Amino acid sequence: MSALKNILARQISLSGPITLAEYMTQCLLHPDHGYYTTRDPLGAEGDFTTAPEISQMFGELIGLCLAQSWIDQGAPSAFTLAEIGPGRGTLMADILRATRSVPGFHAAANLHLIEASPTLRAAQKQRLCDHSPTWPDTIAALPEAPLFLVANEFFDALPIRQFTRDPKGWRETMVALVDDALVAGLSDPAPIQALDHRLDDTEPGQIVETCAPAAPITAEISRRIAAHGGAALFFDYGDWQSRGDTFQALQNHKPVDPFDNPGQADLTAHVDFEAIAKAAMKATTGTASEITHSTLIPQGVFLERLGITARAQSLAKTLDGPALESHILAHRRLTHPQEMGSLFKTLALFPKGAPLPPGYDK
Ligand code: SAH
Repeated sequence: MSALKNILARQISLSGPITLAEYMTQCLLHPDHGYYTTRDPLGAEGDFTTAPEISQMFGELIGLCLAQSWIDQGAPSAFTLAEIGPGRGTLMADILRATRSVPGFHAAANLHLIEASPTLRAAQKQRLCDHSPTWPDTIAALPEAPLFLVANEFFDALPIRQFTRDPKGWRETMVALVDDALVAGLSDPAPIQALDHRLDDTEPGQIVETCAPAAPITAEISRRIAAHGGAALFFDYGDWQSRGDTFQALQNHKPVDPFDNPGQADLTAHVDFEAIAKAAMKATTGTASEITHSTLIPQGVFLERLGITARAQSLAKTLDGPALESHILAHRRLTHPQEMGSLFKTLALFPKGAPLPPGYDK
């Protein structure tokens, strides 16, 4: 049995089955054996690839969107440029390169990265050292200043709980120990007040997922943006509302059983963007300055609107052979509806009354 499996088995045998959220937290962030704590999981050699690792165009266009939004809000002379879950720092490096020639943008930006993994913090330090980043431990530690923030594939890594609708309430997915194996089972049915709003649109047998940490994180971001200006751009796979079982494990780019090798596979779930939008609105409703959100749009649509095709064509002129072929494939992968173009979505938060960040709809 692996070290983390042993730890989880002991905990479950002493105090009973644990929620998926507890299981995910231990698997991803256990200080000694967690998936993110102990490795760099990205890229062809790792377990999964993300949009910024596929092509520099993703970060470049996001950089231009953030810079335009900063200009549209009066180009505040000191602001926080932040990313949550920055991975290898690739997205932020592309954002910074693309915005180099925006007058005043770099001089005004204070770079803040929020990252739980010491391994990935080290990679970010190497990649972004020219921009003197700081690593606050939590979102709550971000400065009280205008905040322009991006998150790509961050919310999908946060721990979820999963509930199956039952005629008598909801049954929660729990991780139990059976014959030395970790297995998922369902708790007895009980009413769950936080899911009352899903009673009308679900039938017995259907599954919904909740992500408790997403709301307080969104609230901290929203409060700052509403009070001081700024924008948050979130990119992730998911939809408006959680529907069905989306808990999954990836190892070497292939789906695996999430309970087989705790700490060795990436665990994710689709993001419920409605919950994020609601948490944002709730954080500032009734205060002097309120936040608002864009509609949820497919990543492919956002990138097309910001001119990815023109950028792809101009980059293509500098390439030939296998590099050109892989560039064409990367463009397709980011935007095509059968690849990441539709499954991945984006949502923007910005101050009520401020111009909508480019590429989004209200
Ligand atoms: N945004 C990057 C990496 C995505 S992987 C990219 O697009 O390539 C998820 C990232 O979130 C990793 O950097 C991981 O270490 C970080 N992460 C996961 N859980 C976190 C948490 N609770 N707090 C801060 N960072 C976290």
